[in-house]
Amino acid sequence: MIKVEHLVKKYGDRYAVNDISFEVRKGEIVGFLGPNGAGKSTTLNILTGYLSSTSGKAMVDGLDILEYPMEVKKKIGFLPEQPPLYLDMTVREYLNFIYDLRKCTLNRREHINEIIRVVKLDGTENRMIKNLSKGYRQRAGIAGAIVGNPEVIIFDEPTNGLDPRQIIDIRNLIKELGKDHTVILSTHILSEVKTICDRILIISEGKIVADQLTGNIDSELRGNRRISVRIDGPSDKVLAELKKLHGVLYANIGAQYTDGSATFLIESKNDMDIRKPMFHMLAKNSWPILLLEFPGANIEDVFISVVDETEHEHEQKGGNKKQ
Ligand code: ADP
Ligand code: MG
Repeated sequence: MIKVEHLVKKYGDRYAVNDISFEVRKGEIVGFLGPNGAGKSTTLNILTGYLSSTSGKAMVDGLDILEYPMEVKKKIGFLPEQPPLYLDMTVREYLNFIYDLRKCTLNRREHINEIIRVVKLDGTENRMIKNLSKGYRQRAGIAGAIVGNPEVIIFDEPTNGLDPRQIIDIRNLIKELGKDHTVILSTHILSEVKTICDRILIISEGKIVADQLTGNIDSELRGNRRISVRIDGPSDKVLAELKKLHGVLYANIGAQYTDGSATFLIESKNDMDIRKPMFHMLAKNSWPILLLEFPGANIEDVFISVVDETEHEHEQKGGNKKQ
């Protein structure tokens, strides 16, 4: 349904988005998790056609957003980080306004009534948006996003600034909409994606550093150390020796080069640094290291900078007991 290929956005010589590729299948609810400044909003604004990219490609339902901007906008409902609400309109006026803006062809009255019901704005439809609580304003923003019945809905940090009760309501609403829409939910809160999403993409410093089904995300986050090392030596023998190193859980050959060297991908236990024993083993065999890298190594860094509300709850409970 959504396909993003090698998306790049530069501001001056700084990368806000640095070569992001991912796909979202029809009907999926995908979480876009990352700390502030990771590049979430930039990516979503490009995907929805509100921002141009420096390079790369984004497609929605097979249509390139640059070639078919109008068609793509019709397929996507977008709740930006700061939804552009018209404070002096009533909820119903606002929805009618968006209906006209989108040149919607569904039965106006029925469609808008349906949205008001789904988003649970009943009773507030004739109130001015400026008189609504923040939670209800957010509902009005979501209502606006689904005018025209788009197949995809994209939420950018939809629960920011809401109180706990409103947060639960908005999360439930997103879950409900996820039943018959393709959804992308951006957030810096780990538990939010865990409770709502099927799949989680973790974004850090403009790059995707993990792409996992929600059930696997904990092991990914608290996961093992991974290194990628290019070694000059007979690859089968090198691989066999690497696997023997204490702490290595997994080793495999990545790329092989014409100069006889190869890249090995090694995963080790989180508390094991295998670099020193690896160096000694390779030196003993006269197999030089040409390059050593940590692919996606900062998943742990991402983890500590995204908020895990469930952990905070545990901490608070623990703290209360002591008092
Ligand atoms: P997130 O939504 O994950 O918090 P953003 O996509 O808003 O992150 O920002 C990614 C990076 O791009 C940040 O470092 C931010 O400061 C930078 N950035 C965003 N918008 C602009 C802009 N208009 N001009 C310069 N830098 C920007
Ligand atoms: Mg943002």
